[in-house]
Amino acid sequence: MSEPGSAPSSIGVLTSGGDAAGMNPAVRAVIRTALHHGIDAYAIHEGYQGLVEGGEFIRRMEIADTDGILHKGGTAIGTARSQKFRTREGRRAAARNMLERGIDALVVIGGDGSLTGANMFRAEWAELLAELVDAGEVTRDVADAHPFLRLVGLVGSIDNDMSGTDMTIGADTALHRIVEAMDALRSTASSHQRSFVVEVMGRHCGYLALMASLATAANWVLIPEQPPADDWAEQMCRDIRAGRLIGRRQSVVVVAEGAEDREGNPITAEQIRKLLEDELGEDTRITTLGHVQRGGSPSAFDRYLATQLGCAAVERLLTDDPQTPAQLIGLRGNRVVTSPLMECVEQTRAVAERIKARDYDGAMLLRGGSFRQSYKILQTVQQAAARPTRPGRRRFRLAIVHGGGPAPGMNTAVRAAVRLGLDHGYTVLAVKNGFRGLRRGQVQEMGWMDVSGWVSDGGAELGTNRDVPSGEQIGQIAEQIAAHRIDGLLMAGGWSGYAAAYELHRHRDKYSALDIPIVCMPMTINNDVPGTELSIGSDTALNSIVTDVDKIRQSAVATRRVVVVEVMGRDCGYLALLSGIASGAERIYMPEDRITIDDLTSDIHAMAEGFRSGKRLGLIIRSEGADSVYNTWFITSLFEKEGGELFDARQAVLGHVQEGGDPSPFDRIHATTLTARCIEFLSEQLEAGGRASAMIGFQSGRQQFTDLTSYPALIESDVRRPVEQRWMESRRLAVIMRR
Ligand code: ADP
Repeated sequence: MSEPGSAPSSIGVLTSGGDAAGMNPAVRAVIRTALHHGIDAYAIHEGYQGLVEGGEFIRRMEIADTDGILHKGGTAIGTARSQKFRTREGRRAAARNMLERGIDALVVIGGDGSLTGANMFRAEWAELLAELVDAGEVTRDVADAHPFLRLVGLVGSIDNDMSGTDMTIGADTALHRIVEAMDALRSTASSHQRSFVVEVMGRHCGYLALMASLATAANWVLIPEQPPADDWAEQMCRDIRAGRLIGRRQSVVVVAEGAEDREGNPITAEQIRKLLEDELGEDTRITTLGHVQRGGSPSAFDRYLATQLGCAAVERLLTDDPQTPAQLIGLRGNRVVTSPLMECVEQTRAVAERIKARDYDGAMLLRGGSFRQSYKILQTVQQAAARPTRPGRRRFRLAIVHGGGPAPGMNTAVRAAVRLGLDHGYTVLAVKNGFRGLRRGQVQEMGWMDVSGWVSDGGAELGTNRDVPSGEQIGQIAEQIAAHRIDGLLMAGGWSGYAAAYELHRHRDKYSALDIPIVCMPMTINNDVPGTELSIGSDTALNSIVTDVDKIRQSAVATRRVVVVEVMGRDCGYLALLSGIASGAERIYMPEDRITIDDLTSDIHAMAEGFRSGKRLGLIIRSEGADSVYNTWFITSLFEKEGGELFDARQAVLGHVQEGGDPSPFDRIHATTLTARCIEFLSEQLEAGGRASAMIGFQSGRQQFTDLTSYPALIESDVRRPVEQRWMESRRLAVIMRR
């Protein structure tokens, strides 16, 4: 045995409180990481109830026990509320059950209640052990061998209501469910010119209501953090009526469960329905989404998030001093971060307290910058028309153009650009068919309602292609920019769009018409453009891949099969790596790592070994650009031949379905918020007479601009990908998770 307290003997994991999609991937990651590091792992079933009861509730896990749960909603190890754990006696029984198995480290996945309970348990550990020794239930030697309880918490909660993490496990999936439902409601509402009041979960937190409204173009939203003005009823009716007058075929009001007025009185869906019917004569229906929001298969993001956090949780338990106060592992700015657990709980409760004390500005402040930004943007885009322009203000002319392959979210971005540009008092021009269209003068002025319904549409209404202008084409584009008096350009697209925008920027000395501010916004499923860690469209593509792979898995598991799935990405392995982690692939081949014959040989041996010890399915994800010789057909044939009697092998080339489909909630939200920053950037430049051009992106999760002049230095010279790819750090995670 190791020195008492030097490293945990065994790790236990439990899920507690309300269930959330993503709890299974988190449990799987905790167990696989522990086993990877040679530590025993126990799953504690039914939350604290299982910990108190012991026996069959606490089960030692092997890696095979974690097969087949990654894609399942809810929690396979169960969750329960436990009154007994609230008592000292209950917690003493829990400690005894843990010591019997040598467990002195816990990963608790739950909400603030569960984490508070866990922290109390940790603080009492030494006393509980002393009591157990006194009662003769545990020997002194055993107690001495486990002097501390190590504890880390992960937040499993659909509400996204916890400090210490930008996203809680389950919130993205809940958003998927809400947005799917609201897309469906919009089509029926529109057919009948009906109004809908949609109630979504969120007692103290308006995250789901706000983001779902942004992602589905709801007309009004009511959230607990920001009760409406006293005359809200008249205001809402005025806005809904104005929407009808400009031709909106449906009205949707979203109300969070915990919405209140400024007096602290609840605002109910029924109250809103009655208002819309009585005041406006609207045929109004209520839809309460209820528990549907919790359920279903976790989204790609939740699977990846939960896997990252589960792995980090165990590694913290292994490396932290055992006396370190309990920590919460979360995601901040796209990075896994650790914060003192109880500080996070207190901060979380502070928001609810501010709401209770009617300090709404304080509550909004605690929610953070992107929450406030989203609320502000939503208020603008849901207007029935642009606000009147200040007299004397110059009416600049902004154009939006796509470049590169289609990416889900492009229409969402155009909608936001048109509405936010018009609201700034500018003229907004849409360029059809990318830079080829710009060269040919395919430019049209856009009105507020021209983009109605575009928030959720996949594809690219304006058209996009991979044309990069060169030679005299640059001059032709300059002529069109001059002819249409374009003052600023927003390029929302991928690799070729960036290359094209840079070409224009590079020639600004030669053609004065090109000396305008240009801003590039990353929209490509491949996530291969510089200046950003994340591009819009890739989340939709990942969800599409993961959903398809789930189906492939189901069919393959019946026949002891290896499936080689080819995904897109050109020279960039982002989609392969992330979808591989989110779908539980054993092997991932990416362009960044060359494939060698030695890799293939050892991978075949490892796969055969797995099948010999009971594996029924092998999943390999191969990026389309991984290797020109060892292509998907080759690798499949090799596995088929070498698999012999053990397994057969099949290939699945997912192809262009990955580029299509309606954008995911994240892609819609990011397309809208990034566009807003781009319009602000262009506005700042134009109002101040500036000429700077930039690429916007997420860096450390924050919206950041990088000078467009630095574009060549940020990309590889011989392959299509940026020099820096932070997501490559997750390769280690893929290795730890595979079996
Ligand atoms: P959530 O974790 O989703 O906030 P609850 O507040 O219902 O959910 O907590 C789940 C469980 O955590 C409770 O049933 C109880 O066993 C335990 N728990 C919550 N708060 C405490 C506490 N203050 N002391 C001890 N145990 C607690």
